[in-house]
Amino acid sequence: MKNIIVASNNEHKIKEIKEILKDFPYKIISLKEANINIEVEEDGKTFLENAYKKAKEIFDVTENSMVLADDSGLSVEALNGAPGVLSARFCGEHGNDSKNNEKLLYLLKDCKNKKAKFVCAMVLIVDEKNIIKVEGEVEGCIIDKAVGENGFGYDPLFYFPQYKMTFAEMDSNLKNSISHRGKALDLLKEALKENLNIK
Ligand code: IMP
Repeated sequence: MKNIIVASNNEHKIKEIKEILKDFPYKIISLKEANINIEVEEDGKTFLENAYKKAKEIFDVTENSMVLADDSGLSVEALNGAPGVLSARFCGEHGNDSKNNEKLLYLLKDCKNKKAKFVCAMVLIVDEKNIIKVEGEVEGCIIDKAVGENGFGYDPLFYFPQYKMTFAEMDSNLKNSISHRGKALDLLKEALKENLNIK
């Protein structure tokens, strides 16, 4: 079975991608499992730009592997789309979820409009000629205090009205069935089926 390397060091994302693609006819492996020790600088202005940059830099150091990159984050309407591409380091420190959440709560405390969405851009480089780019989104709102223990990042603050719970209250199957990442990967699977006859 051929490998797909996921160009990320975020273990939560890799876990979700592996779960969502569990029936896929490729083995999903992390950078660590592929023995690649590269930290790609995420300096793009959009999720798609960053996802492409991550995928390309890793693809260029692999021999013949497909590479998948995910760039994702939270976009809050009242904050003009922030934290956006800075989601992982909103508080100034990369990957500090609790400080990122604290900052978000502080900025929104007197704000009536709590609408937000998660966005996930995915880029799959199959080979030099076949590059698939997709984007998935899910809308919700930010609540006033963290609820739930599951997931990662902003999940405890992201309330999904249709199910009356935050992403952190959902089990992984439920979250993956409605999430930005789940939607992006569904589109990716469709594109692979149409363009390359990969099911
Ligand atoms: P990236 O590695 O630059 O794509 O950072 C993504 C950041 O966005 C994460 O560190 C989280 O803060 C946030 N994020 C992305 N997807 C999710 C999710 O599914 N749940 C919660 N937070 C997320």
